Amino acid sequence: MGRKGFTTRQVQGSGQTGATPRATPIYLTAGFTFDEFGAAGAHFDTGEGYAYTRIGNPTIEAVESTLAGLEGGTGALLLASGQAATSVALMTLVSAGDHVVVSNHIYEGTRGLLLDSLSRFGIDVSFVHDIHDPSAWEAAIRPDTRVLFAESISNATNRLLDVAEVSAVAHAHGLPLVIDNTFATPYLFRPIEHGADVVVHSASKFLAGHGAVIGGAIVDAGTFDVTSTLFPQLTERDRSGTPSPAERAGAGARLAYARESVGPRLGPTPSPLNAFLIGQGIETLSLRVERQSANALIVARWLATHDAVESVDYVGLDGHADHALAERLLPDGFGSVFTVTLRGGAAAAERVIEAVRTFTHMTHLGDVRSLVLHPASTSHIHLSDAERVALGVFPGTLRLSIGIEDAADLIDDLAHAFAAIAARDDLLV
Ligand SMILES: *Cc1c(COP(=O)(O)O)cnc(C)c1O
Repeated sequence: MGRKGFTTRQVQGSGQTGATPRATPIYLTAGFTFDEFGAAGAHFDTGEGYAYTRIGNPTIEAVESTLAGLEGGTGALLLASGQAATSVALMTLVSAGDHVVVSNHIYEGTRGLLLDSLSRFGIDVSFVHDIHDPSAWEAAIRPDTRVLFAESISNATNRLLDVAEVSAVAHAHGLPLVIDNTFATPYLFRPIEHGADVVVHSASKFLAGHGAVIGGAIVDAGTFDVTSTLFPQLTERDRSGTPSPAERAGAGARLAYARESVGPRLGPTPSPLNAFLIGQGIETLSLRVERQSANALIVARWLATHDAVESVDYVGLDGHADHALAERLLPDGFGSVFTVTLRGGAAAAERVIEAVRTFTHMTHLGDVRSLVLHPASTSHIHLSDAERVALGVFPGTLRLSIGIEDAADLIDDLAHAFAAIAARDDLLV
């Protein structure tokens, strides 16, 4: 055989180096070669081996296994965004005609998913406002309820969920509790240890940590009850007669179904490159979150004493309604995303945002850099005034996400920005 054509050689380089890298290699490939004829059939029959990145990829799986270990779950599924993680987690559990019970203190993207998107597919939702009252959760559950959903630490009001209390209510009805653990991260809080069945993350935030990628993850506790009759998609055989997820994966049925069916069919697969960056981020998670929590406490305490400040909503502060619960549930730090409300209202908030130099004005959180956003005119703009007030979002409210910078520089920056308000007496009411 002669030398192959240029175009053939161009696309058929070996790609193999024969080396053994210490860092997780980036398998940036759509698919994988089958080593022999039978390997292809075996993959399609039993899922064994690698074939196509939407179904499985070693870089993605390396991150999944690290994250599952950190959350104390039996497995994880990495997805293309936090929204994809919430969507896939819910669509694994609900079908048309089902109902979900959700904390009112949730990410606005999640509220939109429920009210605008899943509602179109016949999924009904009830919101629980007083999340510390188990009877409020209990009262919202109906015969067609299939899941309870909440955030461990919420936004915009900094509220901390007593996960054990809510999981007890869910389990009494044979229902799973799904917790969005984005704000806490598994370093500060592991919902599965408190009875949660599924954890979801926006990996775009603290897990990746550097603001470079969008990603999400589902971690499952492996607690599915195979005798349940509430989830036929998990316990009954499909149109091909293949053994059901419960028959094959037992208590791991939810994650098996999410990985094999919901995830790959809806298709929000993360890029292996993004998976690599999330994996790199996770390697320094504890160091960043420890520093961010310590910085946040310093900044929050400083803010609470400032004349221009009406209130600081941070679970780490003594006066916060959830502080006692936080001391019990968050021994390693109180997180680093919280709000501060200025006396001078929207005009003061605008002045501060325009004056800060070290803080970055953007809609993101959990970054190594400190960030600031005005929720009333951005993330919460489509709510009514009354809805905003119920969620702790006032005209003068700023959301801060504290980074790893030197705390003194953050306080300096805010002090300078507050001087910009003081330059206008009418804003210092
Ligand atoms: C950002 C965020 C999401 C959505 O995640 P994306 O990665 O932006 O899709 C979900 N939940 C919480 C708490 C978030 O902060």
